[in-house]
Amino acid sequence: MMVVMTPEATPAEIEAVVAKLEARGVHAKVMPGELTTAIGAIGDPEGVRELGLEGLSGVDQVIPISRPYKLASSELSHHEPTVFEVDGRRVGAPDTFCLIAGPCTVETPDQTRTVARTVAEAGASMLRGGAFKPRTSPFSFQGLGEQALGILGEVRAETGLPVVSELTSAQHTGLFAEVVDVVQVGARNMQNYGLLEVVGKLGKPVLLKRGLSSTLDELLMAADYVLKEGNERVILCERGIRTFETATRFTLDLGAVPWLKLHTHLPVIVDPSHASGDRRLVGPLARAAAAAGADGIIVEVHDDPEAALCDGPHQIYAKDFPAFASDVAAHASLLGKKLA
Ligand code: PEP
Ligand code: MN
Repeated sequence: MMVVMTPEATPAEIEAVVAKLEARGVHAKVMPGELTTAIGAIGDPEGVRELGLEGLSGVDQVIPISRPYKLASSELSHHEPTVFEVDGRRVGAPDTFCLIAGPCTVETPDQTRTVARTVAEAGASMLRGGAFKPRTSPFSFQGLGEQALGILGEVRAETGLPVVSELTSAQHTGLFAEVVDVVQVGARNMQNYGLLEVVGKLGKPVLLKRGLSSTLDELLMAADYVLKEGNERVILCERGIRTFETATRFTLDLGAVPWLKLHTHLPVIVDPSHASGDRRLVGPLARAAAAAGADGIIVEVHDDPEAALCDGPHQIYAKDFPAFASDVAAHASLLGKKLA
């Protein structure tokens, strides 16, 4: 931390800050400048934050130097990328690309089976499918719930694809135990800290989506909630954020991919479907994500999107998926990555 004093700060005010820091066991280094004096506070940034130095007279600003996220950071102790397997599919390895595909929502056994078979044949690593849907309106279709998990379980057994599904409430963890391989925390729940601790304790890999209006620092601090429970298997997902631009449903923040790859050891994937809200944009954004160095994508696919109960406009046609997958794989291969 750096404590910057105002130009008018008196020697006594500077001394008072130093005394507070030292009483906390933090080393204080006074650096007088031409106009203002700065005091470097070395050690225990949390302790310094709790001192509330901003309120002291003569203090202008308290500037954090170290990152606010601890466990997700690649800068403190964890320099190597986190790599793990989901039923034999590697996630986060520099030479693998993870293609997660499937319907927005499980609607019928046939729909789920048809899509799952198509994506499995085209090289998908995992099947996505919503059972409990976090809908903006309580009057929209909420998902088939437990029945959907039953369907996912059958299709998982038939295709061998691991299943990714969103947990919207701690009440449902028991239902997820048997059939869900990766527990998704949706954008709307990224800051549901109680839920993050619950998924941290489940012992399953977690796919954590960035909140609609969350900064990347906030995403990494949310990841810290899962990591602190001893669960290292966290996948971060950029899914578009709210900006002034309304042409696309959200603004896909592709810069987040290389930024996250620099600042965290966790795998980073991109959701071009929810970001764009338009299936015509999903291919280009998916290719861009692969070329930007993402560890994978999660994409929505439907056999009959016109009849979809949720997110029809951006689900890509199952018949188009094989060409889509090979196109994305070609872009991932530019960075030496093969489908997991
Ligand atoms: C989803 O992936 O099904 C979903 C609802 O996405 P998000 O949480 O990113 O809106
Ligand atoms: Mn959806």
